[in-house]
Amino acid sequence: RTAICLFTRDLRVHDNPVLQHAAQADRVVPLFVLDEAVLRRSAPNRTAFLLDCLRDLRGSLRELGAGLVLRAGAPATEVARLVDEVGATEVHVAADVSAYAQVRENSLRQALNDCALLVHDAVVTAQPPGHLAPSGKDHFAVFTPYFRRWSATPLRPIAATPEALRMPRMRTGKLPTREELCPGELSPDLPPGGETAGRDLVQRWYAEGVADYGDLDGGTTSRLSPYLHFGCVSPIELIDQAGDSEPERAFVRQLAWRDFHHQVLAARPAAGHRDYRPRGDRWREDPEAFQAWCEGRTGIPIVDAGMRQLATEGWMHNRTRMIAASFLAKTLHLDWRLGAQHFLNLLVDGDIANNNMNWQWMAGTGTDTRPNRVLNPTRQAQRYDPEGTYIRRHLPELADLPTRALHNPNHMDPEQREARGYPPPIVDVAEANAHFRTARDQRSSSA
Ligand code: FAD
Repeated sequence: RTAICLFTRDLRVHDNPVLQHAAQADRVVPLFVLDEAVLRRSAPNRTAFLLDCLRDLRGSLRELGAGLVLRAGAPATEVARLVDEVGATEVHVAADVSAYAQVRENSLRQALNDCALLVHDAVVTAQPPGHLAPSGKDHFAVFTPYFRRWSATPLRPIAATPEALRMPRMRTGKLPTREELCPGELSPDLPPGGETAGRDLVQRWYAEGVADYGDLDGGTTSRLSPYLHFGCVSPIELIDQAGDSEPERAFVRQLAWRDFHHQVLAARPAAGHRDYRPRGDRWREDPEAFQAWCEGRTGIPIVDAGMRQLATEGWMHNRTRMIAASFLAKTLHLDWRLGAQHFLNLLVDGDIANNNMNWQWMAGTGTDTRPNRVLNPTRQAQRYDPEGTYIRRHLPELADLPTRALHNPNHMDPEQREARGYPPPIVDVAEANAHFRTARDQRSSSA
């Protein structure tokens, strides 16, 4: 028996059921396909991280006596070709949720004729999408009951890492450079990709970080999202290692949010680009406001601080993702898809399930049970960045201003603002938020 282990978003050798099962064959060929369709949509930041992951995975597989075969093209074609070359009888791959992943799985099935396709669950997520559902429904549309069920459902056992792999002798192919795959500018402060870096981070997180798990001011978050996105770390191992302290439980709850959004998207793949719950919004068009938002020049410091962090780190704190998204979709009333796409152009952790379903949540077209609420950036900044530490870090031009002015741009001295080259607010937030609420309430009551 010869098995192909097709890596996708599971770029790890630890707790990887795909590799574990493939390794039970007499010979195994680990494979990654540089998928043109994915790379065309990828962002330079994500592609750079992916290449780190592949380099690291290749090193780990070599230590196990194998290597990582790299091919470029359409996965179904490349896998079918390799099946013929090595006489494979089975192909192992992880189940995934996006509309594209589902198309990929179907094309693989069609291309493989006599070779078996074995799709493994609970690799990308901790609980497989579709396994937990309320009676008579195909998914949970509300988080709280989902979380109750999720918490009460045992996880699959951790998959053993193979001690050694037997791979036929063959050329594995050169890893391309980032410029060859996805030219374009990188954010300057990107994290290093790969399972080794991811596992180090997990260790540090549980040893030192999680005790301060919290919000913008001084609190830390794990920054594991890119490693989870590419499967460098296993969500099941992460949950398994968590203790019972309050911050650890809060952290595990966030991993349940990740599973929640994945199961919504798996059941409704169109929700990646279409309103999950249409509210009859007629989004405004305002290219200048959109541009100001992208550049972090809206004149609302907490929004701009988040957007600048995104540009420099390819990552943004969850709190500012929420504030920036609410501001775009509700205060400016621009189509959430514009904002989601801008995030996807930069986020190292960017994926359709977490990004687009969170955007829909914030835009009130998704699974939020209070879709008409709008975040007030001043109140958010006062509550979650009380000393203005986060704003000062990301908007150094405003660092010497009093905290009051950072929280509320109406308290900023116009002369001081101008001297620092910082723009006045592009919108009257209170007025715009009131307008959004009234418009939505009117539509809700006439629906
Ligand atoms: P931690 O707080 O340490 O949480 C641990 C892990 O839990 C995260 O790594 C992530 O995998 C998961 N998680 C945490 N919060 C959420 C959440 N609200 N929804 C789903 N999973 C969550 N997350 C992404 O991974 N990719 C995205 O593209 C993405 N886009 C977002 C867009 C918007 C508008 C919003 C509001 C949130 C988005 N999130 C996204 C969710 C969340 O902001 C990030 O997962 C989190 O900020 C990552 O930082 P961390 O790893 O330090 O998180």
